[in-house]
Amino acid sequence: MSSVITEIYEVFAEESAAIAFACGPGCATCCTRSVTLTTGEGRLIVDFLRETGCALPPLPRDQAPLRPASTGNGLAALCLAGQETPEEPESPWLFEPCFFLKEGLCAIYPVRPFACRSFNSTVNCGKTGMAEAPEWFLTLAIVTNQLLEDLDRGGFWGNLADVLAFLGHGRGEAVKSAARERLLPSQPLPGLLVPPEERPRINRFLATVRERTATRS
Ligand code: SF4
Repeated sequence: MSSVITEIYEVFAEESAAIAFACGPGCATCCTRSVTLTTGEGRLIVDFLRETGCALPPLPRDQAPLRPASTGNGLAALCLAGQETPEEPESPWLFEPCFFLKEGLCAIYPVRPFACRSFNSTVNCGKTGMAEAPEWFLTLAIVTNQLLEDLDRGGFWGNLADVLAFLGHGRGEAVKSAARERLLPSQPLPGLLVPPEERPRINRFLATVRERTATRS
């Protein structure tokens, strides 16, 4: 599955390459502990750390438990069915720096989760206090997120610290099961919410993903 995930990351990067983002090395304003991901993406990180001989960093013990109200596909299913979406917890964002941030750079950059790849801005959000991006880029990011969740069926989705604690090797069943309580099951793709004017671009993106992942495991 990992090569399918990385291929989807690649197609997303190619599709959005035309946008002049202001983000660059050392710019880490969005590198907080609010990153979410699937367990499939988490396994890429665990494998990368093992292959590069790096230990999983100590996961934060001071972090407030964060259980998102719904996954992306869960939300999309409710919207498509015309149902109410659940309220987010009072503090859905954790603004402390990400534990993978080392001197302003990401220690797992080649395998950073999709959430990190989609936090992009055409203005320096460290200065303006707000990120900006074209509407179609936001739709592309939501669709890509939904594909990654669909790919992870049978797995879980949630905060980076919880996914890694759940996957963490040798950290004991108690840690794993406490982390599991804060994760949500990854859901199948219920359909896409794409504005009519963005459909040609999204259809092209989906066709490229299908073509490039057809022979991958
Ligand atoms: S995983 Fe890397 S890119 Fe993502 S928030 Fe952490 S330091 Fe930043």
